Amino acid sequence: MKPASLKTQVSSGGVIFRKHKGRIEVALIAVKGGTVWCLPKGIVNKGETPEETALREVEEETGLKGNILGKIGQISYWYFIKEENVKCKKTVYFYLMQYVSGSTDNHDWEVDESAWFPIDEAINKIAFKGDREIVEKAKRMILDNG
Ligand code: ATP
Repeated sequence: MKPASLKTQVSSGGVIFRKHKGRIEVALIAVKGGTVWCLPKGIVNKGETPEETALREVEEETGLKGNILGKIGQISYWYFIKEENVKCKKTVYFYLMQYVSGSTDNHDWEVDESAWFPIDEAINKIAFKGDREIVEKAKRMILDNG
């Protein structure tokens, strides 16, 4: 078989949070039959800014609308796209978002679940180290800003 070729992708997503009963909660989505909890995100479309993508994808995937408070950071990982025999390096930008409206019941049919978790529980539930570090950084940003 021919060696895999390489490509890059850029996605954008968010940590959307609210204060609920005196606790900070963040929304996560579950994929792969509900087994993998991660942050909402998606590909940055042509003509879209990463901020616009983050707002759109968070709303589509979690059912929640938010306001961007600032950039948290970015992560990168490699994965293999079997159908294309391509190795892909994905970079994902993440933004901190304050919850405005909406319900996790209105999540995208493409994700298995969308739910609020107390922030420390979310950190424990997340499947990927990169996403986990982003939520840890988001927690520091929220606590620093009261
Ligand atoms: P997007 O949500 O950007 O449209 P997608 O759903 O097509 O993308 P990814 O979520 O990037 O694709 O998943 C591609 C592969 O990378 C999967 O095998 C997934 O398990 C893995 N993956 C997803 N997020 C991470 C991460 N933060 N770190 C490492 N691997 C990840």
